[in-house]
Amino acid sequence: MSATIIDGKALAAQVKERVRQQVETFSQRPGLAVILVGDNPASRVYVDGKKRDCAECGIYSEEYTLPAQTSQRELLELVEALNGRADVDGILCQLPLPQGLDERAVLRAIAPDKDVDCFHPYNVGELMIGEQSFQPCTPAGVMEMLDAYGIDVAGKHAVVLGRSNIVGKPQAMLLLQRNATVTICHSRTPDLAEQCRRADILVAAVGQEGLVTADMVKEGAVVIDVAMNRNAAGKLCGDVCFEEVAQKASYITPVPGGVGPMTRAMLMVNTLTAARLHGKG
Ligand code: NAP
Repeated sequence: MSATIIDGKALAAQVKERVRQQVETFSQRPGLAVILVGDNPASRVYVDGKKRDCAECGIYSEEYTLPAQTSQRELLELVEALNGRADVDGILCQLPLPQGLDERAVLRAIAPDKDVDCFHPYNVGELMIGEQSFQPCTPAGVMEMLDAYGIDVAGKHAVVLGRSNIVGKPQAMLLLQRNATVTICHSRTPDLAEQCRRADILVAAVGQEGLVTADMVKEGAVVIDVAMNRNAAGKLCGDVCFEEVAQKASYITPVPGGVGPMTRAMLMVNTLTAARLHGKG
């Protein structure tokens, strides 16, 4: 079998176009505030990408670039001010924060109805009980991809590699909500290969190049590679050995051009949702 390659880039463009069309019908423009503390070059690239996405979708965006020496208090005051602004529907604080700043406190300070990353414990709890307004962008992007390609997860065995709060755990929850039977694997899982071979849907979110080889994949499985690693040559790659696994899978996502663009598109969806919550839609 040779897998269908799931085109995250094309799909993300469609999702953003959908957002743009909906924004046009709104009484007021949705707004997103992005906070960047310090000068992490990767974060700079991400923030620039998010601003471009906002411009494409007709969403107003505002960037706050703060020096690495910013105090916890100053950062919390900024979040508080943004919480109180009617023109700001979503607040995103780009992670990681420089040393000395308490990430958890900052994420908890963002008003839950503006928490477009879906990292606030309130929204994480809502996700757990299936009553969420927002879904975390990366796992939501994966679900959007599965839907777009007509892949029904109900009754399937989904195996998620990784249990982080931003990818693995919420991914497992979203798959469970859609009636998959879910196994979550992590660094202490014995015989990872055996667990993977039981997967109808395999989501890899570990961050280890070459982790998933063809012998770990069931014939016809759907393979979603969330990871973004740099190989020895500095090239972006995932956890999955793409060429060999594509020979066995029914569907597979590439890296780059798979989950990455979808993550960005889902942030636009969440900003739209936030604006709706604020009565603008
Ligand atoms: P993370 O917080 O480092 O979590 C990695 C997870 O993998 C942990 O749960 C860890 O287990 C598990 N793990 C480590 N080694 C393992 C092994 N040998 N076998 C099985 N599980 C193992 O990373 P993350 O933030 O979730 O990100 C994961 C990957 O996705 C990274 O490559 C990241 O760059 C990428 N990512 C991509 C996007 C996107 O938009 N495409 C978004 C976010 C993240 P323990 O819990 O036991 O340590």
